Amino acid sequence: MSTPFSTFVVKVASRCNLNCDYCYMYNLEDRTYRNQPAVLTDEVARNAAGRIAAHAVAHDLGAVHFIMHGGEPLLAGKRRIARIATIVRELLALHHVQVRFSMQSNGMLIDDEWIELLADHAIRIGVSVDGPREVHDQHRLDHFGNGSFDRVIGAIERLKSHPRGPEIFSNVLAVVDTDIDPEALLEFWDEIDVVGFDLSLPHANHLHPPPAPIEAYRDWLIAFFDGWFDRNKANRHVRYFENMMRMMFGCQISTDNIGGKPVDVLVIETDGSLEPTDAFKCCFDGVTKLGANLATTALDELADNPLIEAFQKGSAGLCKTCQSCEARDICGGGYMPHRFGTDGSFDHPSVYCGALKPLVHHIHGRIKDSLPAQMQGIAA
Ligand code: SF4
Repeated sequence: MSTPFSTFVVKVASRCNLNCDYCYMYNLEDRTYRNQPAVLTDEVARNAAGRIAAHAVAHDLGAVHFIMHGGEPLLAGKRRIARIATIVRELLALHHVQVRFSMQSNGMLIDDEWIELLADHAIRIGVSVDGPREVHDQHRLDHFGNGSFDRVIGAIERLKSHPRGPEIFSNVLAVVDTDIDPEALLEFWDEIDVVGFDLSLPHANHLHPPPAPIEAYRDWLIAFFDGWFDRNKANRHVRYFENMMRMMFGCQISTDNIGGKPVDVLVIETDGSLEPTDAFKCCFDGVTKLGANLATTALDELADNPLIEAFQKGSAGLCKTCQSCEARDICGGGYMPHRFGTDGSFDHPSVYCGALKPLVHHIHGRIKDSLPAQMQGIAA
């Protein structure tokens, strides 16, 4: 296997207490979640830890990242999350493999007990919030059609004010909605006062286009970048932009949505199924089903699967247009699920190409312009 897996997105719960309109798990093309057990059992957690440990030892990995994911991961419940963390940490420690835990939550269930439990087990948590109430509640509704803004803001405040909150919480994640003024979102970010504000483009592709025209994403991303860049605050991070900038300075960034580096991510479902990243679910029903399960399949056996192989290839698997693109080393063809075309192949530029290429050029230009005059030449 050319790129060993070191990031494991593990579905500890396969249901959600929200019903977001853009959700790639439950509201796009794929309906296979209906056949998944609601939560990850101890047996699957033990199998996962065993397979991960064997893979890590075989590839000489000293550490792995275990992301507890859903659905909504907190629906797994406190005792189960504690048990999963304990099982995985103890089994990996036997093989001298360190594990870093994190989770992405909608925040609806956060209380003081959760904060203490997550801190006790060193599980970092990110909270999803899309912006001010009118934007957030347009998309992130519960199953009765009620907005979730008040509860998510309550969760963020609780995480910030709890004495152990800073041990586990430092970032929120927003799905880009071009209807919100980027400046208003930057002001909202200042109001909630959280250090990290990560962005995610709505999962879409050439068969299922994004909700707004591509030019709107181009203009929005550039305006949000400028607002963030010009504020120049040391305690405000946008990982999406910072990753692009790090790559422009020659850093090796491991991320699956930009950059085109080989991808090291594997998804483990609640029933132990092994799958590529969830975002593929925006392509067609059943796309992530590889027919492989932890119970019977070693992780190295996935190397021959065509979808895993293509996902792991990074830039080497890009279409001709991307291969010859001047933005390729930063953009990397965008996120592979976003390249899916009407011909049923991924042999296309990202559906967001018209936004990504201008964004890369814009960021490059802003960095270049910010350099002292005598250094402008080296960044040309
Ligand atoms: S900017 Fe477009 S053509 Fe260039 S690498 Fe990205 S998706 Fe491909």
